Amino acid sequence: SKQINVALIGNPNTGKTSVFNALTGLNQKVGNYPGITVDKKEGVCKLPRGVKAHIIDLPGTYSLNASSLDENVVIELLLNKNDKDFPDVAVVVSDVENLKRNLLLFTQIKDLEIPTILVINMSDRMDYKGISLDIEYLEKELNTKIALVSTRKNTGISELKTLISDYKKLSTKGCLNASEIDKAYFENLQNAFPDQLLYKLWLVITQDVNFGTVERQEFDSLEDFKTKSKADLKRLQQKETIKRYQFINNVLKKGQTIDLKNAKDLRIKLDRILTHKVWGYVIFFAI
Ligand code: GDP
Ligand code: MG
Repeated sequence: SKQINVALIGNPNTGKTSVFNALTGLNQKVGNYPGITVDKKEGVCKLPRGVKAHIIDLPGTYSLNASSLDENVVIELLLNKNDKDFPDVAVVVSDVENLKRNLLLFTQIKDLEIPTILVINMSDRMDYKGISLDIEYLEKELNTKIALVSTRKNTGISELKTLISDYKKLSTKGCLNASEIDKAYFENLQNAFPDQLLYKLWLVITQDVNFGTVERQEFDSLEDFKTKSKADLKRLQQKETIKRYQFINNVLKKGQTIDLKNAKDLRIKLDRILTHKVWGYVIFFAI
């Protein structure tokens, strides 16, 4: 049977390596500081219906706006369809406590039109933080399948395996498409370049990705353009981030509730403060 490529992608410290270990049964070192995964780690996972997956644990990255070597590893893989590791499925791992920030990268990967599953990890923390999620709504708005996982409690992993084995059903539709990011800007370029290349192209230019691995001839005519419009493109990049956060905020407004009154975490902290002996002194001196 066919072996499919599954790439684990996400911000540092969201639990990628923990998910990798849960899927592969391997025991890679789980970090207590960001960036412990410096290289890609690989393993194999047997899935329902005889599907075999080749799992790649990638270094943590905050966005596809590359600023570090780690991030370049991810970008170069995602922009190169001919890479032997090019993912059939991108599993974006996020941390339920930092969804907003984590979803920035998720929307960028979606917009590369790669089949994507969103893992919301650390679900064991939801009670403590008073977080509840409308998974169905989030799946609809983000155009994706979601696995709510806790690698600590070992929950949601078999659901994740099933979602991966059903990878053919995953949507390749983006969240915000290139033309939504900056219509006017792209309209100017429309005549010059084929539509589906625009977003990739834009990534390549703004991020200074070494695009030797991407279909090189498609970008050759751009060298000139690239040097001329660098400042414009930086601005465009900032605009892109703002648009993405607007989109994410809107989705989370309905899809996520954070009820501080119900947060165990807060109640525990409050209890600690109220029972702290300091209050004894305060009362003593007050009297
Ligand atoms: P990576 O940087 O994305 O590879 O994340 P790691 O797998 O190294 O995990 C980062 C930290 O999150 C570690 O301290 C893990 O123990 C912790 N962690 C991972 N999964 C969970 C989870 O499901 N629940 C909780 N509470 N912590 C987790
Ligand atoms: Mg890791």
